[in-house]
Amino acid sequence: MGKVLRVFDLDDTLVKTSSNIKVTHKDGKETVLTPGEYAVYKPKAGDKFDYSDFKRILKNPKIIKKNVDLLIRMLSNPQKKVTILTARQLTFPIRYYFKKEFGLDVYPVALGDADPQKKADWIEKHIERGYTDIAFMDDSPANVRAIDALKVKYPHINLRTKLVVDNFVPTEKVRIFESVMRKSFNKMLNKIN
Ligand SMILES: [Mg+2]
Repeated sequence: MGKVLRVFDLDDTLVKTSSNIKVTHKDGKETVLTPGEYAVYKPKAGDKFDYSDFKRILKNPKIIKKNVDLLIRMLSNPQKKVTILTARQLTFPIRYYFKKEFGLDVYPVALGDADPQKKADWIEKHIERGYTDIAFMDDSPANVRAIDALKVKYPHINLRTKLVVDNFVPTEKVRIFESVMRKSFNKMLNKIN
């Protein structure tokens, strides 16, 4: 049996934060991108990127529950190597957040580089080390494409990728509205019964 690897991206896959990326264009103009916008941004010649928001503690983190639930399930199986693979530069804010919020010991790998090929290289290293069952989840189409390219190179490896598109996090207002609706609906049901 080959070894099992599960890889999760962090930003906009497991959590949404209010960390943004600042781009200074060739003409000196600046654009601020959310991680979601950055994931589909096509860099232009002369762009300079400022990632300093990502060097701190997670800013205003909100979990994407479905994917965090899956992470928790994967972590409960010690046979699997489970990693959070991020373009961020620091691992400790990620370890600190998951420990504090969920009591989870996660193993982040911080590449310090947003080049999709860096994620593919990291996965390829694991294929060379004998991992044959690999799943990769990311909200960046470019990252997913880079990993998909490995499928061609290693057709005998069970390599699955998932592009995260439904990473909606309800706002506070929506959450309160839902909870009020649920309560009044339950009251109604109780009356009927
Ligand atoms: Mg992401």
